[in-house]
Amino acid sequence: MDIIRSLLNPASRCVLCGSTGYNDVDLCAPCSAELRPANPICVCCALPLTTPGDSQHFCGSCLQNPPPYSFVYRLADYAPPLDRIILQLKFNQKLHLARLLGTLMARDIRQQALTLPDLLIPVPLHKQRLQQRGYNQALEIARILARALNVKLDRHSCVRHKATREQTGLPAQQRKTNIKGAFQVRHDVRGKHIAIVDDVMTTGSTVAELSKALLQQGARRIDVWVCARANV
Ligand SMILES: [Zn+2]
Ligand SMILES: [Zn+2]
Repeated sequence: MDIIRSLLNPASRCVLCGSTGYNDVDLCAPCSAELRPANPICVCCALPLTTPGDSQHFCGSCLQNPPPYSFVYRLADYAPPLDRIILQLKFNQKLHLARLLGTLMARDIRQQALTLPDLLIPVPLHKQRLQQRGYNQALEIARILARALNVKLDRHSCVRHKATREQTGLPAQQRKTNIKGAFQVRHDVRGKHIAIVDDVMTTGSTVAELSKALLQQGARRIDVWVCARANV
């Protein structure tokens, strides 16, 4: 029986160090322990706060200029070793890593008992970029989340109709201009609580722009779910 079981469920292997996986994912216990998110963080945008002990506070930027989304969930900071996994997924065709990241996020989201949205919307890629890359990493992560959390995946309501430059490497102000008007919402999202899914959130200009487009079409509330939050 053990042979059959191991054939059906081959032992998981850590994608970072090759040791035996832990908790049925392709990551070992010591490598999992490295995915530690910063604390305390802003209750809205998830950036680290400088004052220790704050657990219900907004950062200065969210207080002065409230973003269009209500809440950001992140699995961990954009730092080693998570950044390596994300880069492999995004640029190296390692699509199976979406399963690992989505599974880790779904487990954490359940554990934190976050309010689940009506819809998950992955940040869309422009069709040119989709053709070059062959897949959208945000969609691949969202598929796993949708299945694990039993939330509807909506991959058709939003399109990126403007071919923008890669945001990576652009300063904050240019990121905003670059992404302005990039998204179009084609279906009715009135009254919906939506979580936008992406791999990394840096300045937040992409998810803010998509949030605005969804709110303009009547969405009730927007959350952002990302694997990693870069501290900018
Ligand atoms: Zn490991
Ligand atoms: Zn904030």
